Amino acid sequence: MSLSRYDLTRQQVAELLDNAPKYRTDQVWEGMYRDCSEPDDWSTLPRALRERLSGLLPRALTEVLRSVSDDGQTIKYLWGLADGNRIETVLMLYPDRATVCVSSQAGCAMACSFCATGQAGFSRHLSVGEIVEQVALARRDAAGVDRRVSNIVFMGMGEPLANTEPVFEACRRIHDDLGISARSITVSTVGVVPGIRALAEFELPVNLAVSLHSADDASRDPIVPINRRYPLDAVIGACQDYLRVRRRRVSFEWGMISGVNDRAEDAELLADLCHRLEPSAHVNLIPLNPTPGYATVGSGHQTVRGFQRRLENLGVNATIRRNRGTEIDAACGQLAAQGVSIGRRPERNRQTTSSARPT
Ligand code: SAH
Repeated sequence: MSLSRYDLTRQQVAELLDNAPKYRTDQVWEGMYRDCSEPDDWSTLPRALRERLSGLLPRALTEVLRSVSDDGQTIKYLWGLADGNRIETVLMLYPDRATVCVSSQAGCAMACSFCATGQAGFSRHLSVGEIVEQVALARRDAAGVDRRVSNIVFMGMGEPLANTEPVFEACRRIHDDLGISARSITVSTVGVVPGIRALAEFELPVNLAVSLHSADDASRDPIVPINRRYPLDAVIGACQDYLRVRRRRVSFEWGMISGVNDRAEDAELLADLCHRLEPSAHVNLIPLNPTPGYATVGSGHQTVRGFQRRLENLGVNATIRRNRGTEIDAACGQLAAQGVSIGRRPERNRQTTSSARPT
């Protein structure tokens, strides 16, 4: 596959510019990483060069659809890649900042039962450029409404720790060139043990979140099939090693599934796992988004609150993740899962590219 705009290193950009003076490379790099704009907008450059750069710096992502919800505060993008694959990115705006949720793979091989991406299967890894461009384009839109992107979460499509090299290099760019603090970048994994170990060795102290969803192997196996390869003991062991190196609190994600993992005994088992880490893990309770391929429903609000209180009584900090964009299918992989039917579904909050802009 040919290199796209954000695949290129600064050195490669300099080479593209032939013998131009060094400040030209700086101007291009600023256009890409400070302004996150298009070559056409780089008015410090001569017009002929701008035109040439449009061809030399091809975009990796083409907008297929953009959905807006939460009064314009959640924007979900469906991107087409050069080879026809589709991925998603979510931009969540808050009063004084913004978070971008990025995809690390087209599809996912982990096959978690309740996850729309898992139900659709794996297509391929994303390149550095495909990951970084998601952040750059979301940042451009955030800047348009005076928000600064402060946080990045690898919680879109794919398993980031099954694609470590591009993900780590993308983290470097996001940190070094987009200026986002490593402590504001979170890599979420289903529990790929070698990946957790690699993350502990990675030079940037990014956060680790582990999608646990169940605290005993017998009931985790069917929900999170990779558990057969990396059972809970191995995952917790890797988290302990990560903590020894990093001294950064780990968080556990827990999608609340009615009758499956929302009972009192589930909270107790989870609290035991949390306490095996020092400091104890933080729990993020996620109200389950319904997906077509999974019959079981999410826990009701009262149950989620009760589960949270139970964890807190057991000495574990737990927060309930606010559901963003439920009505635009902002759960992992849901937009892409609808495939070609996307543009035709007459839903009140779904808007097409040309008409939807964050307000
Ligand atoms: N593969 C990584 C990151 C992508 S998914 C991982 O598993 O952590 C990001 C989070 O969304 C994970 O915690 C995942 O379990 C959760 N998720 C997936 N489908 C969901 C759904 N239908 N409802 C709620 N959370 C979901």
